[in-house]
Parts: sequence; C-alpha cells; structure tokens
Amino acid sequence: MKINQNYNKLPHNYLFTEIALRTEKYIKTHPTQKVIKLGIGDVTQPLSPVIANAMKQAVEELTKKETFRGYGPELGHVWARQSVADYYKNEMNVVLDIDEITIGDGIGEDLANITDLFNHGGNTVVIQDPVYPLYQSTTLMDSNDIIYVPCNEANGFLPTPPDSHSDIIYLCSPNNPTGAAFNFSQLKAWVDYALENNAIILFDAAYERFTSNNDCPRSIFQIEGARNCAIEFGSLSKTAGFSCIRSGYTIVPNDLNRDGMNLLRMWQQRQTTKYNGANYITQRGLEAALTPQGLKDADRNIAYYHHNAGLITSMLKEKGLFFTGGESSPYVWLKCPNGMKSWDFFQYLLDTVQVIGTPGVGFGPSGEGYFRLSAFNSTEQTIEALERLDTIL
Ligand code: PLP
Repeated sequence: MKINQNYNKLPHNYLFTEIALRTEKYIKTHPTQKVIKLGIGDVTQPLSPVIANAMKQAVEELTKKETFRGYGPELGHVWARQSVADYYKNEMNVVLDIDEITIGDGIGEDLANITDLFNHGGNTVVIQDPVYPLYQSTTLMDSNDIIYVPCNEANGFLPTPPDSHSDIIYLCSPNNPTGAAFNFSQLKAWVDYALENNAIILFDAAYERFTSNNDCPRSIFQIEGARNCAIEFGSLSKTAGFSCIRSGYTIVPNDLNRDGMNLLRMWQQRQTTKYNGANYITQRGLEAALTPQGLKDADRNIAYYHHNAGLITSMLKEKGLFFTGGESSPYVWLKCPNGMKSWDFFQYLLDTVQVIGTPGVGFGPSGEGYFRLSAFNSTEQTIEALERLDTIL
C-alpha cells in the first residue's frame, strides 16, 4: 500500500484551526475577558422565513406515505437545477442548460472534487496569492505544481495572467480575503489566456451577490469564450446563510472538451459514482432561496453585512491605515500598522483588546503583513470591536 505522502506538503495547521487554538488558549488563561470575533468568514444573520418554511414543508412531506421519498437524482432535482438556471438568466443574462448544472453540498467540496477530472501529477495550477486556502491544499494533495500569482498593492490585488503556460487556474472573484473583484476586461484577459493555453479556469463565485459594481461580472459566463474554458461554482452559504445547511451548485458547460474527453460527462460520471445527491430538504431550501422573496431577504442580509463593513472601513480611513475590500465582499483587507507581521498583529489584538481577526499570511505568502477583518457579525459586536480597536490603532 502506498500512502499519499503529499499530505506532508500541507501547512501544519489549517489557518482557522490555529486561530481557534490560540483563542482557546487565551480564553482559558483569561476567563473573564470577552473576546469578539471578526475572524472567521461565517454568516450570522438568521435564515429567511421563506426558506425555513419550504424546508419545514419538505420535512412534512416525508412524514406522509403519499409524499414520502427515497433517494433523489445524484445530480440534483430538475426543479432545483431549473431555479439555478432561472437565477443566471434573470440576474446575469446567462443562459444555461439545466444539464450543465449539478447541485451539491456547498462548493468547498466541489472545488476540490473537480480535480478528479484532471491528472494528479503533471499539471500546473495557477493560484491567486493570497486566496481561500482550499485551492492550494487540494493541489498539493494531488501532487500538481503551483504557480502563485501575487495580488498586491501594485496590481490593485487583481493580477494579470502569468507569462508561462499553465493547465488549471483557480480564480476567486470577488476575492476572499482581499475583496477585490475583476472587471470585465480583466476577467476577459484570463479567459483569453486560458483559451491560448488550452487551460481550464475553476471560477469560484461564492461572493458574486456581494458585488454591486456593474463593471464586475458576477459569472465568468458573462465573458465571451468562457464556455470553452471555464467551470463555475456558486454557493448559498454567504449569500443566503446556508453555511450550516450546505448547498451550492457547479456549472460545467456541455461543450467543454479537453484531450478527447467531455468534462461535463466526466463530472456527471464522477458525481453519480462518488456522491449520492444533495439532501431533498436542502434542495427545497435552495429553490426557495432563489425565489424573488428569498433573494430579497438575501439582499437585506447582505446590506446588513455591507453596513458593518462600512463601519470598519470608516474607522480604518480615520486612522490612515491602508485597506481594500468591503465593497464587493464582506471582507476588509488591511495592512498591519508599523510593518507588523500578520500573526504578530493577530496576537497583539488578542492580547490587548481581545479582538480576533484573520492573519493575512494564512491565505498565502503575499498576505504577510496584512490582516482580514470580517463584516459577518452583528452591528453591535462590530461597533464594540471598533471601539476597542480605536484605543490602540
Ligand atoms: N469559496 C470561497 C472563496 C469561500 O470563502 C468559501 C467559504 O468560506 C467557500 C468557497 C466554501 O463555500 P461552501 O460553504 O459553499 O462550501
């Protein structure tokens, strides 16, 4: 038996595990101190009633003999896939065939599982630096090579494609953690690069609904040529508060072929073999989340988070600290003051004002010296955290 030794290449502690460990240690030694978390990127606003009712009704159906159900289709119910197709048509003017859409349990899984379509070893993968850590970890597990494209002040945190060849490209826009979102021409440059290199873009649109800027595409399929080089992942976690319910979708265009293979067919084969389909109750929740009322409620919650982000950025402006983000995403990306390193700043905030943020270096080497504050908290807690920060920044 040969063990996958590539796991040794992974960073020792997953970013959020390390944050949790340090926080726990602090709380144990300072039990009377109240810690405020502006760290983990998780939603806090309650679920829309329209979603909750749809899910309750789905449970009710299962309690009656006439409406009870067993296994559902592995790729998702037709009505759930249709809701996603309607969402793309109505919101982004993108026409999708429902066969191109698969429903899953959130996209963390799909963003990693999609790599089953590609050789493990021998592929070169482009990854933004800094970015959501999953892309790096899954690429290392698969023994593929990484080209990091730095996102920094010089390029406005929106890098251009590398000069060298690559095979797979993870793009996250709006970006976690920087909040930067590609505009149409910037994303077109990536699509052109992928087409020239015969590469595939894995486009993570987890925060698409946070973009209010009409210059920024919410779907890569709004870009000409993307159907020939891109796969898109959409999540309900941040937009509709599904992070604990788990729901998302993956879109593989039906004409996406490489090396004599059809990628949609492969993805369907992969899912029907290794996955038994999303929970029926959850899919009813997804359907409700994408109705006009569900979307209205989502937008109300997003506006709430944007308000918190605005409070954070106003304070940073006042203090004259460099930051970006907060407009197209729930995250504010700031430069640690006085040239501090990310983890030092984390510890400093924890020790002095008991505010938890996320060290930028945890998202990639170019994140060193930066820090992510998240707007996913109550306005009351955000204000309290900012009052505390005001005393030390
Ligand atoms: N992609 C990005 C950029 C994220 O920030 C997250 C979660 O934080 C995910 C994907 C995972 O989303 P899901 O909850 O759908 O698995």
